[in-house]
Amino acid sequence: MTTLIAGHTGNLTWKTRYLEHKEKANKLLKEISSLVELGEGLNEIDNIKQNKNKIIDIEDDAYQLISQGRKKEAINLLKSWNYIKNHQELIKATEELTDLVNEHVHDNITFRKNIILLTFLILFILFLILIYAWYKSVKTWRYNIRKRKQKEQEIIYLNYHDSLTDLYNRRYFMQTGKQEIERAKRYKEPLSLMMIDIDHFKNVNDNYGHIAGDKVLKQLSSILKESVRNADIAGRLGGEEFGIILPKSSLDKAKKVAERLRKNIENNTFKYDKANISITISIGIAAYKKTNINMDNLIHEADLALYEAKKIGRNCVVTNQEIKDK
Ligand code: GH3
Ligand code: MG
Ligand code: MG
Repeated sequence: MTTLIAGHTGNLTWKTRYLEHKEKANKLLKEISSLVELGEGLNEIDNIKQNKNKIIDIEDDAYQLISQGRKKEAINLLKSWNYIKNHQELIKATEELTDLVNEHVHDNITFRKNIILLTFLILFILFLILIYAWYKSVKTWRYNIRKRKQKEQEIIYLNYHDSLTDLYNRRYFMQTGKQEIERAKRYKEPLSLMMIDIDHFKNVNDNYGHIAGDKVLKQLSSILKESVRNADIAGRLGGEEFGIILPKSSLDKAKKVAERLRKNIENNTFKYDKANISITISIGIAAYKKTNINMDNLIHEADLALYEAKKIGRNCVVTNQEIKDK
């Protein structure tokens, strides 16, 4: 453009502007070349360079002509098809390079976006895995603790209970009996102990089978539990033998309870399959009186009373006092 003006006006001061533009264009081209990656855009850069050089050659020639005062020839040179064609090709190559750069920038941005998204996705998945692992381990930990506690409770329960009837076993019965006797001594309270034995239980096993016998033992145990107060301790001491400790109960009171129980059992029919089984029980009772008595003595006295009950015909209640009074 400056060359054209210089051509028309013959004013060579425009050459300075022209040279400045030329230098700027060269510098810009160099920078673009360094940005363009190997293989990509090289053709476009080459085209730009070639066209730019051709244009510069023509413009240099034009300035040469202007400086010789041959303005018309210079203008004709700048209007020549060759010069216009070079300009058009320069514009075309520049547009192609711009498109290429735009495409490249767009690809780059999309790539970066995808990388960021992927990173977030991976972090999120890792976070979920961590949460899940944490949740699982807490759950297992809790489950193990619950199981262990359950096991401990089962062990404690089995330690003190009879597995067939769920009544207290002999160990717990003896242990608690000793404590209750000590308490009765300390507070000067009465205490009674019952020994219960099923009459001719062997016949039940013989007539109906061992499983039927077990059922009868279970049902009898339920009746025992229901017949006594919460404070009383009912236990299975062996085969078909049971004991009940009655804290704060005198011999008379205990005898009433025993009679009621005996009648209950006598009137009850124990059901197994289609069979209705009837049983009776004998009960021996001993009451704590002497201060030097212990659990073993008390059981022994109750046993003697039970033996007496068996001797006089079974299905009855005898107290240790009655034996002594004889
Ligand atoms: P008594 O009137 O003299 O007490 O006669 P009994 O037959 O009840 O006494 P004995 O001591 O001769 O027999 C007790 C029976 O109890 C024998 C045994 O098979 C039975 N027995 C003991 N423990 C169990 C048990 O856990 N289940 C069953 N089904 N029977 C048992
Ligand atoms: Mg018996
Ligand atoms: Mg027996």
